Amino acid sequence: MLIDLHMHTSRCGHAEGCPAEYVSAARAAGLDIIAFTDHLALPDGYDPDGEYAMRPHELPEYVAEVQAAARGSSAPRVFLGIEADWVPGHVPDTARALAAHPFDVVLGSVHFLQEWAFDDPARIDGWSLRDVAGAWEEYFSTLVDAASSGLFDVMAHPDLVKKFGHVPPGDLSSLFDDVAGALADAGVAVEVSSAGLRKPCAELYPSDGLLAAFRRAGVPATTSSDAHTPAEVGAGLDEARSALRRAGYESIVYFEAREMREVPLWE
Ligand code: ZN
Ligand code: FE
Ligand code: FE
Ligand code: ZN
Repeated sequence: MLIDLHMHTSRCGHAEGCPAEYVSAARAAGLDIIAFTDHLALPDGYDPDGEYAMRPHELPEYVAEVQAAARGSSAPRVFLGIEADWVPGHVPDTARALAAHPFDVVLGSVHFLQEWAFDDPARIDGWSLRDVAGAWEEYFSTLVDAASSGLFDVMAHPDLVKKFGHVPPGDLSSLFDDVAGALADAGVAVEVSSAGLRKPCAELYPSDGLLAAFRRAGVPATTSSDAHTPAEVGAGLDEARSALRRAGYESIVYFEAREMREVPLWE
């Protein structure tokens, strides 16, 4: 089963293509299951240029558009998802938006440390002010808080903090085991995303080391491209699936009405 549980449309302000184009691309790539996961609107002040996410009033329209695409496609099966940011001061707003629509899957993302959009190339100067090890610590403790919030089904790009190649020296295995244990306790899944292959870090999110820790802790995993153009749908799924196999995974998951469904990895 080829599953791509993370893709965006032009609605978010930094991607191209409409749902119908993504569905055609997914069909051409032979995918079995896809989910649309456009970026949920951010709280006031977090997206001043409208480049990170849809506007709040667009959510019903987005939902209707994806539902129409889903009705029109049996292969691939199309699910209604959303990628929601973890913004600690705004949990009730996020919860309300997520409860207002019948999402199949909610991806949880940490794109901000305090107000710093650390993965935005336009904000890369922030890295020169930071100690890499400190940023990693803050990132992963934020990820654990997000996972533990109960808002999310899948933690997206779980080691996004490495995007521009900032990785602290030394052995990270105890950090990875702590994070994996916390995500297991939180009952969330993680995605293995090929997006990192297309970024300066040039490796999957998560790294092999972190994925192995997830496997040891029993954290379920899914696969995704985080496509921002129709041409990227299904990109790198082979690499993601190979990484899962290397880490010892035998199954992957997808979500329907926010219920986890498990399928064999090699089928
Ligand atoms: Zn995006
Ligand atoms: Fe993201
Ligand atoms: Fe995304
Ligand atoms: Zn993403």
